[in-house]
Amino acid sequence: MSALRFSGPVLPDGEVRELFVVDGVVTYERPAGAETAAEGWIVPGLVDAHNHLGLEDGGAVPDDEVERQAIADRDSGVLLTRDCGSPADTRWVQEREDLPRLIRCGRHVARTRRYIRNYGQEVEPDGLVDAVDAQARAGDGWVKLVGDWISREEGDLAPSFPADAVTAAIEVAHAQGAKVTAHCFGEDSLGPLLDAGIDCIEHGTGLTEAHLERMVAQGVALVPTVLQTSKFPEFSAQGRVKFPAYSATMDTLFQRRRDVLMAAHDAGVALYVGSDGGGSTRHGVLHEEIRAMADMGLSNEYVLGAASWRGRAWLGWNPGLDEGDAADFVVYPRNPLEDLSVLTEPARVVLRGRVVA
Ligand SMILES: [Zn+2]
Repeated sequence: MSALRFSGPVLPDGEVRELFVVDGVVTYERPAGAETAAEGWIVPGLVDAHNHLGLEDGGAVPDDEVERQAIADRDSGVLLTRDCGSPADTRWVQEREDLPRLIRCGRHVARTRRYIRNYGQEVEPDGLVDAVDAQARAGDGWVKLVGDWISREEGDLAPSFPADAVTAAIEVAHAQGAKVTAHCFGEDSLGPLLDAGIDCIEHGTGLTEAHLERMVAQGVALVPTVLQTSKFPEFSAQGRVKFPAYSATMDTLFQRRRDVLMAAHDAGVALYVGSDGGGSTRHGVLHEEIRAMADMGLSNEYVLGAASWRGRAWLGWNPGLDEGDAADFVVYPRNPLEDLSVLTEPARVVLRGRVVA
């Protein structure tokens, strides 16, 4: 493979450097015959911390559509994806050098008829441990629970599973070496999940100050998915006639969501950036989530770090671009820390040392 040369400020520290790529890795020692590929602001590959590769409204999609989704993410600069539940078998994506690195988590584990049809493995509480055990074995170190969803009997959001079932399930996942995350819109599911030692919360609009203190103490991360929670007024409108209590709950959660997000940040909870691509959301829109989080009041530096170097470190990858690191990065024509809108116009996307876009 021939050597490539890039130059410009390298984030996170912004030092202007000549960066070379040889055999898929970064080096700062000039190799012979390096060709200049791009000049600009060099950012470690973006991380989508909540994505659903292979998932559409009706459930799993065929491989050619999975490929289109992965390429849309990649061409927007996303080079590492943490899947958050997919009914499609996407293991083959990991064999493809030209597609983003993927951490799979198997299927969502949900309560029977208490989630979107064809998405998850649906079980009753007495089947939860076995389901989580199976998904922990099927995934790459993460299991996704649907922590709460509308209960038609109660007419409101309600925890999917009782506390004792959740406790046993998280214990079995941890015994398998897998971490657990959960979809939680409301408040009531959160206490038992935190008691049980959950590792991450998705959405988290129902978090209270007491929950946030516990998240900090226990090192529990939050992926707030602001694009997704901006749809709460739609969910509320859909439920207003048949489920007025649910509708009111969603309105309240929507009104509080900015305060909750900023309180989480102020408390010191580690936030990561997830597009929630798949299902009802498009792929290739992580830059929209980054800007949506910044619009909530988080600094550009905080959000970009969460979507790049800090997110990469959280998921076990090289945070920056040091000598010998995997050459996964994006080159932008302007400084994204000053202007996040440049994230829509990557000049070059480099994955595993190859210019892929
Ligand atoms: Zn999701």
